[in-house]
Amino acid sequence: MNNIKSVSHHHLSMLESFPCATVVIDDKGEIHYANHQVRELFGHDPNGLVGQTLETLIPPKFGKSQIDNLVSDIRDQPLSQLKNTVLHGNHIDGQEFPVKVKLTTLPIEFGGLVAAVISDESRKVNIENELIRKNHLLNFAEEIVGMGHWQWDLRTNDVIWSDNLYKVFGRNEVGGLKYDTYFSYVHPDDIEYVTERVQTSIADKKFHHFFHKILLRDGRVKTIHLVGQIFTNDNDEVIEMVGTCQDVTENLKNEELLRNASILEAKSTEMEQFAYIASHDLRHPLLTIINYIKAFDEDFGHSLTDEAKEYLNSISQSADRMDKLITGLLEYARLSQKKQRETVDCNEVVKDVIKDLSATIEKQDAKIITDPLPVIDGYEMEMHQLFQNIILNAIKFRKKKITPVIHIKSQKMETGEGYLFEINDNGIGIPEKDLGKIFSIFRRLHENEEFEGYGLGLANCKKIVELHHGKIWAQSEVGIGSSFYFTIKT
Ligand code: ADP
Repeated sequence: MNNIKSVSHHHLSMLESFPCATVVIDDKGEIHYANHQVRELFGHDPNGLVGQTLETLIPPKFGKSQIDNLVSDIRDQPLSQLKNTVLHGNHIDGQEFPVKVKLTTLPIEFGGLVAAVISDESRKVNIENELIRKNHLLNFAEEIVGMGHWQWDLRTNDVIWSDNLYKVFGRNEVGGLKYDTYFSYVHPDDIEYVTERVQTSIADKKFHHFFHKILLRDGRVKTIHLVGQIFTNDNDEVIEMVGTCQDVTENLKNEELLRNASILEAKSTEMEQFAYIASHDLRHPLLTIINYIKAFDEDFGHSLTDEAKEYLNSISQSADRMDKLITGLLEYARLSQKKQRETVDCNEVVKDVIKDLSATIEKQDAKIITDPLPVIDGYEMEMHQLFQNIILNAIKFRKKKITPVIHIKSQKMETGEGYLFEINDNGIGIPEKDLGKIFSIFRRLHENEEFEGYGLGLANCKKIVELHHGKIWAQSEVGIGSSFYFTIKT
């Protein structure tokens, strides 16, 4: 090995002018020369380092052995061959910091000595750490809002996704995505729409945000919102799209719930106003008319002709009927108002109804058979009204000369979410074409003279059932009888 002193002044000044700390070492790591940049980086006097080993600058715990390996690796390599590695340096004041070490063989004059060019990596490592930290934060933020980001290179068709975007799509085959792969994740109903949106964005060179459905492997459907930006080259051709994708499935559900809630609220306010108008503005003048008819009859009835008396009677009857209709309407409107559910024993409810209707039941000689009924979570008064309306109709629409027989039963629903009730009668029946109409307000199939009524009973029943999140319907055969069914969700 050559002594450094025999190396020409020209070569040494070249090392001195290197912009990085440079030390010349032999194959045992002994330092033969250090330039003045070494002082700046490590705080050591360059001359004082001569004779010491590289361990002074790069302690063994930071991988000096790696340097030894590298030195022996490159010794026989040509000058241009460089190796570099990131290690830790040791400042004279004891502070450790990241360094990058590049080894290079020196001209022949150096007799096999190797130069180690050492640069400070602190800034780069700090930047890298900051990038890693920011990336973690971004991933965390994306996870919280159910979002991911994507990049599509239109020249290669390669697509890159952030980790969380794979989670949004419920996929784990990380990497190797192509634009076409994306379409295998899009819900079949939306493929045409997505294609059209993407094409429009490319044509307009402006990303038009849009929503579409995706189909997950487990069959779940999600709705996502895509927002992006378009990049063009110097020829104004679209070469790249970058953007975000957010899972908005839950947001949409919540929005729909809110929308429904506000519609319900608006409806209920409307109903309350209607009920107020019905009770005050309509009923008051009507009661005045009824009272005056009574007074007129009492004061002048004796002096009226029979024909005039009949007219007065008709007016009085119509006014009474109108009062009943308004009262019924008022009850119908009030039904939608929110109340607290309670435990309702349907056996007790039906027992009470039968007691209340005992006079009618006796008069009509009706027979009511009740199977055991469930205890539900519901609205007791309304359930009473529901059973009463259906039972009364079954008695009212009886066949002449045939004892009305009414059978009430119930069973648990197959879905386990509540009960199905069934009330059968052997009455006149309802034509099939009318089965859909009978639950509408004021809808009647008979003249008043034939069967008295107001067309409110079944409309009320429908409302009560809906209040319990159930459904009501009927099956019937004219001349045989009818069956009314309703479900109550508990
Ligand atoms: P109302 O009994 O006051 O007419 P409802 O709303 O209770 O009003 O019933 C609507 C119509 O449905 C009745 O007018 C009647 O034609 C028909 N209907 C209801 N229940 C029965 C039944 N059990 N048998 C036959 N027809 C019925």
